[in-house]
Amino acid sequence: MGAKQTEKKLPLFPERQAVVAKEPVLISACFLGIPTRWHGRRPKKRDQLIEKLQEKYVLVPICPEQLGGMPTPRTGEYLEGTGAQVLDEGLRIKAPETGEDVTKFHVNGAGYALEIALIIGAKRAYLKSGSPSCDKDGVTGEVLKRAGIAVIRIP
Ligand code: SF4
Repeated sequence: MGAKQTEKKLPLFPERQAVVAKEPVLISACFLGIPTRWHGRRPKKRDQLIEKLQEKYVLVPICPEQLGGMPTPRTGEYLEGTGAQVLDEGLRIKAPETGEDVTKFHVNGAGYALEIALIIGAKRAYLKSGSPSCDKDGVTGEVLKRAGIAVIRIP
């Protein structure tokens, strides 16, 4: 009887099915205006591009550096090479101000980003350029590419 009551109460939203049917994609959280960048300031939102992507996809924000355990604000690192070199050749990522080796945070974040991609079934990821993690050639970009996920670099 309880189940019957629940069924009756459920409203019908046929338009919601169309939303669910959209392809889920990963997207760098900061690109959506979420203040995840190293300095903690809210980045400028790229509304037009976001709207265009939203027409086709369900945008799932990720910040690999936060996922990997880094705080915000945090030190701003540069990748002096590629994510592939970090994964294959032992290239280290160091915080310029302190010299701290932060490679493990970037690698961990890439692993979690991949886990999320697999959970939601993402076949593509829109990642912010110029980041040691997010760039197409960053650590997360490389890990996602190796898993067969198309990585699109966004400026
Ligand atoms: Fe943005 Fe990616 Fe950097 Fe996070 S790791 S702040 S999502 S570019």
